[in-house]
Amino acid sequence: MAVLVTGATGFIAKWVLDCLLKENYQVIGTVRSQEKGDKLHKQFGSPSNLSFEIIKDISDTEAFKPLFKKRRKEIDIVLHMASPFHYNTSDYEKDLLTPAVNGTKGVFHAIQNYGDVKKVIVTSSFVAILDVAKFADGGAVFTEKDWNPATWEGCQTDPMNAYYGSKKFAEEIAWAFAKENNISLTTINPVLVFGPQKFDEDVTTQLNTSNEIINRLIRSKPGDKIEPDYHSVYVDVRDVARAHLIAFQKDTAGERLGLSNGGFSSQGILDILNEKFPQLNITKGSEPGKGDTKPAAKFDNRHSKKVLGFPFISLEQSVYDTATQVLKKEGYL
Ligand code: NDP
Repeated sequence: MAVLVTGATGFIAKWVLDCLLKENYQVIGTVRSQEKGDKLHKQFGSPSNLSFEIIKDISDTEAFKPLFKKRRKEIDIVLHMASPFHYNTSDYEKDLLTPAVNGTKGVFHAIQNYGDVKKVIVTSSFVAILDVAKFADGGAVFTEKDWNPATWEGCQTDPMNAYYGSKKFAEEIAWAFAKENNISLTTINPVLVFGPQKFDEDVTTQLNTSNEIINRLIRSKPGDKIEPDYHSVYVDVRDVARAHLIAFQKDTAGERLGLSNGGFSSQGILDILNEKFPQLNITKGSEPGKGDTKPAAKFDNRHSKKVLGFPFISLEQSVYDTATQVLKKEGYL
């Protein structure tokens, strides 16, 4: 029995690989090049139960076919995690929407035509749930039943909205395909994911999109204005990884597992950084100590937390671990 993890080089995926390997699963990861696969294999200590297949670009709906033709007998579980998560583009369709949607189509077609897969877990997002227009409204509460109302054309106003749309359209395709073809599907819908990189050597000046929120604050200067000033919701990457395993180990078919451990603000992160690392000469923000007072919409994920059954890592711990790793790399600690 093997677990296929698409987008194995990703920030979250590396923690998922770590959990899978610790539980002795056979793991097949998809990577975009041989070099990336070789590097990742080495990072994990070259275990014999970890192997890689190359999928250069998930925008090609045929991309997964050779992999499934070759390894169809082994793959029992699919964790489809690959999807672009960045805001560095003005070609929203080509760089965000098409890979997300075609990647999901491609993986499901390959499963349907060539595989003997028992369960599929798709890494979707809270942004497939969120209605951006209501987010600043402190009274708005979202649950796992909600859907982002974005349209294909309407979401192409800026990279953030286009990314949000990409996750919604990809998840819709997953549910439709699973229903039509009687495939067991669970989606994982995390809010912004913080936490350390799996490997210290992966810490670079710029981190993955979600951790950049913390990284920019670590690199701020005294008196800097907080820009952008986030009031949002977070979850730690180690909890997200754990949820991916529970999603197929337990009977969670049909669930959208919403992962959130509550709100955060940029000021709140600054307060933690200034308290834990007083030697850092960074901005105190405009309202030191008042980090979490401004309202932002809430994600009521009590149902998912009950299904998962483990306590989530606190904001303080998540920020502390993320910052410690960066500061060690930078020689501050
Ligand atoms: P990363 O950017 O670290 O990982 C994305 C992964 O997808 C990488 O392995 C990347 O490969 C691969 N990928 C991207 N585009 C393509 C493509 N066109 N063809 C093939 N592979 C591709 O992101 P995260 O780990 O943060 O995110 C992983 C998943 O979790 C995504 O589906 C994301 O939408 C979702 N998510 C993330 C959240 C977060 O806050 N981080 C929150 C909610 C959901 P390569 O490394 O080679 O570029």
